[in-house]
Amino acid sequence: MTSDELLAFDRQHIWHPYSSISKPLPMYPVESASGVRIRLTDGRELIDGMASWWSVIHGYNHPVLTAALQEQAAKLSHVMFGGLTHEPAVTLASILVEITPDPLDLVFFADSGSVAVEVAMKMAIQYFHAAGRPSKKRFLTIRSGYHGDVFHCMSVCDPVNGMHQIFKGVLPEYFFADRPECSFYDEWDKNDLNSFEKLIEEQHDSLCAVILEPIVQGAGGMRFYHPEYLRRVRELCDHYDVLLIADEIATGFGRSGKLFACEHAKIAPDLLCLGKALTGGYMSLSAVLASRKVGEMISKGDPGVFMHGPTYMANPLACAVANASVTLLLESDWQHNIYNLEKGLQLGLAPCTDFKNVADVRILGGIGVVEMREPVDMAHIQPAFVEKGVWVRPFGRLVYVMPPYCMEQEDLAVLTAAICEVLDGEQSK
Ligand SMILES: *Cc1c(COP(=O)(O)O)cnc(C)c1O
Repeated sequence: MTSDELLAFDRQHIWHPYSSISKPLPMYPVESASGVRIRLTDGRELIDGMASWWSVIHGYNHPVLTAALQEQAAKLSHVMFGGLTHEPAVTLASILVEITPDPLDLVFFADSGSVAVEVAMKMAIQYFHAAGRPSKKRFLTIRSGYHGDVFHCMSVCDPVNGMHQIFKGVLPEYFFADRPECSFYDEWDKNDLNSFEKLIEEQHDSLCAVILEPIVQGAGGMRFYHPEYLRRVRELCDHYDVLLIADEIATGFGRSGKLFACEHAKIAPDLLCLGKALTGGYMSLSAVLASRKVGEMISKGDPGVFMHGPTYMANPLACAVANASVTLLLESDWQHNIYNLEKGLQLGLAPCTDFKNVADVRILGGIGVVEMREPVDMAHIQPAFVEKGVWVRPFGRLVYVMPPYCMEQEDLAVLTAAICEVLDGEQSK
């Protein structure tokens, strides 16, 4: 198949993320990828700013990860997890228990981030059911959040950009506190918590859990909020006997400058969702970590088991590559790499601050965000980035990057310069 034939079939028959069938946006066929470069079938190479949505932290086609996958495939690619277990799953669970905050002692493996969120939400409901308080079955979250695209995840995504009106009557309706306004770098203002505090005080009898993304709100707005907000949320959850679910699917494994973003606030959640970078971007795998308190309560109640078990649970290939990825991360000087990314992003994106079409530039760890005043025109801006030799995929008003941790300063400089040039060009339009 030539790339023209491939593109023609793709255009006719294949859905892409958040895509239209009748008005598809430009599409680029990829031949291979290595390190921080994505190679297109026409031979062009793009410096990757997206890490394939937070996941490719070590770069593409990493020899250690590829070898781990191949070795595992030669032994055991999959076996059902009901009644059977295996070394890759046990090793991975032991690493995750070790590196996550203390009370998180139990591991549930699932096949994608969204499923991990569903699992954590089900655990929270089963926890209070088992505790003899079945009326505590609703959720409280904060606006501008993102937790995945399946139904229960959607019900706690931001109600506006999560399109709740389309699904009204089908989505469960939960509670939304105002989004935190006090940024990571601002001085803490305790009024930032007013809306959350009021809701949890009024609704705690019906709440099983608060769910949020700690410190970094990802796809719901790319915002960085104050650690004190999270510390206070933890206190309020304890005070009102509500579980705290931390969705670290985007932030887990170092992206925000801490191994887990909860560490910025020195708190531990009752349930923690991991995904995305877990396998270094090789394949889909997620995990929910739970405290023993949660696990034991669920197991005491009726039906005495946790009611979930995906077919590909703890897939050995995914677990083996996750083991390799997490070990590689922990053995690397990742703090230093993230620090360098942060400095390079600050320097490289600084010129955007002066553009009249730019509302805000913000950076935290390995995440750089340029928030525009108006939504970008994807049909125009996407080819402009590709022309400059970089892969940047904006959405709405957000032009953002979270490069692989191994990106060298030279490549980072090319990436940020391309963003500045393209956005500068947009000013005169
Ligand atoms: C991406 C993401 C999810 C959903 O993960 P999928 O693997 O896409 O299902 C959930 N929560 C957060 C914070 C995410 O960034």
